[in-house]
Amino acid sequence: MTETDNTNKHAARMIKKKAVVDERIAKATEERGVLILLKGNGKGKSSSAFGTMARALGHGQKAGLIQFIKGRKATGEYLFFKDHPKVDFNIMGHGFTWETRDKAQDIEAAEKAWEIASRMLKDDHYDILVFDEMSYMFKYEYLDVAPVVQALKARPKDQNVIITGRTMHRDLVEIADTISEVADVAHAFRKGVKAQPGIEW
Ligand code: ATP
Ligand code: MG
Repeated sequence: MTETDNTNKHAARMIKKKAVVDERIAKATEERGVLILLKGNGKGKSSSAFGTMARALGHGQKAGLIQFIKGRKATGEYLFFKDHPKVDFNIMGHGFTWETRDKAQDIEAAEKAWEIASRMLKDDHYDILVFDEMSYMFKYEYLDVAPVVQALKARPKDQNVIITGRTMHRDLVEIADTISEVADVAHAFRKGVKAQPGIEW
């Protein structure tokens, strides 16, 4: 096969591909907010959510963020976004960390965080909401999934919501629009590399 044949073949393939993509684009006409779930055991779920939030902020949108698991006090995302005029940054108070094992206190904190979240889900001033690590609230049965599903379904039409966590409740999977799974192919931790600011927190 000559070089020209190859080039022609490639061009024909691209034209065909473009037609397929164009047809799909033409069919996607609905305008509404989406529910995005970011799950899996690999690294990159929360940072993807913050990245998408930054993208929305770039367009002047208003964001609400709730971190359902209290980790280190001063994460990079907290330091970067806390004073942003268009971000309401909430960290679940006195709440669940991997160290605490006071279930009653954890549940109380989870319920308070959910109170804030459910208020945001009724408020169309928020264009995008991020519920970081919310999935654990269902896994550990700190929150009931039914009212969350109900509130998500009833939220303002154009509001986008992102929920992160390693495992996702099947009732959330059922109503989600976009679900991405981050696979753990390798992690520096297993090579003995210490957690570091800017990468881990
Ligand atoms: P990130 O916040 O970096 O996007 P994530 O939200 O996908 O990560 P989490 O399960 O919330 O992952 O865990 C957060 C922290 O745990 C990060 O510091 C990350 O590097 C670390 N981590 C994530 N996946 C793994 C893994 N498979 N092995 C070891 N550490 C991990
Ligand atoms: Mg995370």
